[in-house]
Amino acid sequence: MTNKPTKFDSLINVTQPKLPDFNEFTKHLKDIWDRKWLTNDGPKHNQFKDELKNYLSANNVELFTNGHLALEIAIKALELKGEIITTPFTFASTTHAIVNCGLTPIFCDVDSTTYNIDVNQIEKHITDQTSAILAVHVFGTPCDVEGIQEIADKYNLKVIYDAAHAFGVEIDGKPIGNFGDISMFSLHATKVFNSIEGGLLTFNDETLTSKLKALKNFGLTTPDSVDYVGTNAKMNEFQASMGLCNLSNIEEDIGYRKYVSKLYTEGLKNLSNITLLFRQENIRHNYSYYPVLLKDVKMRDELHENLKKYNIITRKYFYPLVNDFNCYNFDSSLTPVAKNISERVLCLPIYSDLDPEVVKAICNTIRYELGEMSND
Ligand SMILES: *Cc1c(COP(=O)(O)O)cnc(C)c1O
Repeated sequence: MTNKPTKFDSLINVTQPKLPDFNEFTKHLKDIWDRKWLTNDGPKHNQFKDELKNYLSANNVELFTNGHLALEIAIKALELKGEIITTPFTFASTTHAIVNCGLTPIFCDVDSTTYNIDVNQIEKHITDQTSAILAVHVFGTPCDVEGIQEIADKYNLKVIYDAAHAFGVEIDGKPIGNFGDISMFSLHATKVFNSIEGGLLTFNDETLTSKLKALKNFGLTTPDSVDYVGTNAKMNEFQASMGLCNLSNIEEDIGYRKYVSKLYTEGLKNLSNITLLFRQENIRHNYSYYPVLLKDVKMRDELHENLKKYNIITRKYFYPLVNDFNCYNFDSSLTPVAKNISERVLCLPIYSDLDPEVVKAICNTIRYELGEMSND
């Protein structure tokens, strides 16, 4: 391993969207032009839905224009009221969905190895107002789905998973979207798998289908009846076309991310100032992110700034913690583990065509910046 850090000629971003072969995409465009059917359950949408249902081995799937609206619609479809127990270590979307639906988020602290909601602390937050648990599979690491379901069954709560990071993840061979009442996957450009923007819900109770369809289309159940105060969250034919193209390459993409992850893990091992994400053996990961924890906030912020000098862009994800957002007024000292992780976390560049030599050079540069050059 060479000892000199590398300054890259162009920016190495933390992520880069996956684009399919251009000609493959334009074939879909031709179909759309010929048909003049742009949105509202078109043929591309329906094909995409079928292929996703198959890929995710899901019992039921509905598609949406983005993941966030899918999450809000999941909350509405389950007719949740009062309080939802959730995690503060997540993207703004999770909490905003709860609040936009008129409910109160109750923040439970997270587990220090998975960064997911700590099942041992959920019960103490349950009140007679609690209607659901909204947990997040952060960085694609599965929550303790069995522990969560046990609590939900005991107190008669619904379970929604924000699986925005977890497309393609499996626990003991079981697809992650089959746990809980509803799971939301985001197909945003920055995710492992994208349809430009897009989202989907997987769910076990088939009777939710008509309600979900109505809620994403202004609450219309037939042209003559509006049964719900719905919104507009339909996926269009262009999004579905991008999704279809990218879905045909998904195994390759995840396989390549696995390789990049392995290079990071090798390149950053035995560093006293860095903690790598713990990966369980029984999980099929999607390698959506490569988060590391630095020793403290000062070291994290310095590394984040210093890497910019080499054109390496990292992201403090998730920082600030949701309960520290200016738009909310919660007390983040009540979730100390989440607070600590949020102050130390840094996500390194990972995407499906990141050059292996670049990954090695990033590792080298991090070692140099931390003053830990030896790799033994
Ligand atoms: C991306 C993301 C969302 C929102 O998904 P969009 O498709 O961008 O609306 C929600 N939750 C988490 C954890 C995310 O990372």
